[in-house]
Amino acid sequence: MENKQFEISLKCLFCDCELQGDTEKEYSSGDMLECQECGELNDYDALIDVAADEGREVAAKYVNEEIEKMLKKAFK
Ligand SMILES: [Zn+2]
Repeated sequence: MENKQFEISLKCLFCDCELQGDTEKEYSSGDMLECQECGELNDYDALIDVAADEGREVAAKYVNEEIEKMLKKAFK
């Protein structure tokens, strides 16, 4: 199977804009990420939870599409 990269973005839990994390800094559990739009502090762990959920959804959709394609080929 080809290697597909999923684009998951971290979104502010308060205003839903995309968070621009400091690329120089490595965030870890317990950190707070400040939103550049609304200035609210986002809990890293909560962000990861949301991103993981989003990732599962994207992955599931992708897998379903691949299976559909395979089935279509198989029955041609
Ligand atoms: Zn925000």
